[in-house]
Amino acid sequence: MNFDLTDEQKTIVEAAREICEAEFAPKADEIDKTGIFPKENLEILSKYDLCGIPIPEEYGGLGADFLTWALVGEEIAKTCSTTSAIFGANMLCIYPIYMFGTEEQKQKFLVPLAKGEKLGAFALTEPSAGSDAASGIATAVKEGDEYVLNGSKMFITNADAADIYVVTFKTQPARGARGMSAIIVEKGTPGFIFGKQEDKMCFHALPNCGLTFQDCRVPASNLLGQENRGFRVAMETLDVGRIGMAVGAVGLAKSALKKSIKYAKERIQFGQPISSFQAIQHKLADMATEIEAAELLTLKAAWLRDQNKPFSDIAAMAKLYSSEVCARVTTQAVQIHGGYGLVREYSVERYMRESKLFEIVEGTSEIQRSVIAGHVLK
Ligand SMILES: Cc1cc2nc3c(=O)[nH]c(=O)nc-3n(C[C@H](O)[C@H](O)[C@H](O)COP(=O)(O)OP(=O)(O)OC[C@H]3O[C@@H](n4cnc5c(N)ncnc54)[C@H](O)[C@@H]3O)c2cc1C
Repeated sequence: MNFDLTDEQKTIVEAAREICEAEFAPKADEIDKTGIFPKENLEILSKYDLCGIPIPEEYGGLGADFLTWALVGEEIAKTCSTTSAIFGANMLCIYPIYMFGTEEQKQKFLVPLAKGEKLGAFALTEPSAGSDAASGIATAVKEGDEYVLNGSKMFITNADAADIYVVTFKTQPARGARGMSAIIVEKGTPGFIFGKQEDKMCFHALPNCGLTFQDCRVPASNLLGQENRGFRVAMETLDVGRIGMAVGAVGLAKSALKKSIKYAKERIQFGQPISSFQAIQHKLADMATEIEAAELLTLKAAWLRDQNKPFSDIAAMAKLYSSEVCARVTTQAVQIHGGYGLVREYSVERYMRESKLFEIVEGTSEIQRSVIAGHVLK
């Protein structure tokens, strides 16, 4: 067993760390306050070739691996959760086109996405179909060489900021999950409409809104993978997406720990730094230990993906564990900061709010437990 990174991995991750610390960290609190989409951060990801890290160079990517993608994602999350969510949601569009796309689809859609010239989104959730994603009712009906799309999607990340969307529709509604297809839709297609932005408790600058399709016509050649096999496309996409969510949670938890250590060393009470109290020390020890375990699980999932080994169960464990660790760690970070923890200036209140997203999005903790149970009971 070897935990060393290759020289290439180290070079990319260290460069990403410098970029994130210089460009993203200084603005992270501000964009949460203003709620303005950080377009300039996306341009930076694009400028430094960080959008398509695991995608081969022939398709506009960096030609690195998923482990590098995960480590870079962690660096982004350490400095700006919103940018990390944009980065992660983009991969939810890139990955299925890479895995299931035709050569023509890869040239047309994957290349600009991997180069960072265009932004992607992935739309599975519907107003009445969240955890039970297979129960979606949006439909795609084939008419000649087109699909006619009708229905709504909900909570879609990158939403109106994106250009290219991988969307699931029922092509044979009576067949449930076996009647779902994944279809690529481009922004600007007539009949493709955005809903209102969701007013969330966290990630204020992350675009999330509904997508509505009203007799929206797309070429039949936009079908991704086989007709009626779209649920598989979605589930395989979410396997990688769960690594992305775990990475975001680990990065955020690391920032919370770092701020807590600094604060605990500086804050004097009873004539000594609060870090000298065993109660605080034990909190910090638990936070550090849990983060280490969450990171190992997350990187193992990415490594398994790179080895082309089954990773669905480990990705679900990584997402479940990292998101719950992140929630515990960020809550303790606020506790260690005392009253100042509730004040925006110290960032940890934002971290605590942001941590909640990881336990819900891309499959709630309850659903991750069901996925894992399905594997262990096989
Ligand atoms: C900020 C944000 C970004 C998102 N981005 C995207 C995106 O880009 N693309 C996309 O497609 N979707 C996206 N989503 C949707 C997200 O994945 C869903 O919200 C999530 O899967 C949960 O679905 P739901 O909200 O409908 O909750 P529900 O499914 O209604 O669940 C409600 C509660 O019931 C529990 N529950 C449901 N079923 C079971 C069960 N069988 N066993 C035990 N408990 C159960 C859940 O765990 C939860 O606690 C996003 C959501 C948010 C809030």
